Amino acid sequence: MGQSALRPLDEALHEMLTTLPALTDTLTLPIEQALGRVLAVPIISPMDVPPFDNSAMDGYALRSADVVAGDSLLLQGRALAGHPLGCEGAYGSVCEAGHCVRIMTGAALPEGADCVIMQEEAQADGNRITFTTKPATGQHVRRRGEDIARGAEVLAAGTRLTPRELPLLASLGIARVQVLRPLRVALLSTGDELKPVGTPLAHGEIYDSNRYGVRAMLERLQVEILDLGIIPDDPEQLRAAFLRARREADALITSGGVSVGEADYTKQLLEELGEIGFWKLAIKPGKPFAFGRLEQTWFFGLPGNPVSAMVTFDQLVRPALARLAGETVRPPLRLTATAAEGLKKAPGRLDFQRGILESTPTGLVVRSTGSQDSGVFSSLSRANCYIVLERERGQVAAGEPVTVEPFGSLLQ
Ligand code: AMP
Ligand code: MG
Repeated sequence: MGQSALRPLDEALHEMLTTLPALTDTLTLPIEQALGRVLAVPIISPMDVPPFDNSAMDGYALRSADVVAGDSLLLQGRALAGHPLGCEGAYGSVCEAGHCVRIMTGAALPEGADCVIMQEEAQADGNRITFTTKPATGQHVRRRGEDIARGAEVLAAGTRLTPRELPLLASLGIARVQVLRPLRVALLSTGDELKPVGTPLAHGEIYDSNRYGVRAMLERLQVEILDLGIIPDDPEQLRAAFLRARREADALITSGGVSVGEADYTKQLLEELGEIGFWKLAIKPGKPFAFGRLEQTWFFGLPGNPVSAMVTFDQLVRPALARLAGETVRPPLRLTATAAEGLKKAPGRLDFQRGILESTPTGLVVRSTGSQDSGVFSSLSRANCYIVLERERGQVAAGEPVTVEPFGSLLQ
């Protein structure tokens, strides 16, 4: 098959993302259990944040018109965080003209007061406070609703909840959220040569490593995992596994058996049990990749080579599963760095070489992890980024700018 039949990655990605539907089943969870879940509906703020005008400084609250530099005012009382002026009943809750109120950060601004002068700009002599500056109206005051106004959309549906969103929800008093149910994903490895870890190897056999990588990435995605283990290159056993995935899972991810080898039954089975698109992708590593469906179960066939399996999962399956899970899919962050050394590259495919990215006083610099053979796992384990080399690019010389993609949350 000529190079022209190779499918560009963004085309494949676009086709998957426009084909795949998002889940619609929802459940309601307390926010303590909602980390990593995807919001089913937008979050509309039920309140203003902050809920009342309050002081951004330790100092004195007063009416700005009462003070020109050097003036003094009578101390009326105090306002502490959680204890507004007048809460003790000793004084009124209004800051009177000609008076000031001792106030601490976060305390409610007393009615009547319109600014805060910080304590460094005040001198106390008994109950008389002298100010060394003239304040501006509103200074050092955090206004009610200035962060979030009641009724504003604070988070969109499709947001995956991280440690950044949970305290925001809590600040709005939201105790429970409606989220999409987790995806249920089946996985299996295929190949007669594969043995599980913990068993001895006969000549010609290797350990099944892909399932551990795929499983770990699925765990990061917080899906429910149905691990179907190692399936030999045997059509009947593969059929049974595919049928089980079709009954029980939203998606099936296989590794191996999608190239054109004789023992590759995946294709036949998918044609029989569902629909299949076999793609030769214009990427390296990871040329063979299959996408299809078994009725309602989506199918992703990763190449068997360990590095290819990881890279195609990260680049293609991760966004596809995010889409299925109802998450808003965003492209990965890419940066420009200087190649510290020459990089081998032939035109024709988009390369995802594995690199080590470092910040130096002169900017970002990236070097290769060594052999980029798709079976060499150390090239991935020592890396912290992809060096993304454009399809038509040839050899890269030391000092040339290259695009890098720091590993995202799946590979970190
Ligand atoms: P295949 O895609 O089945 O032709 O496999 C391509 C290469 O990847 C072969 O060298 C396989 O032995 C290897 N391979 C396939 N599956 C796995 C796996 N689960 N773990 C490690 N290596 C694998
Ligand atoms: Mg195989």
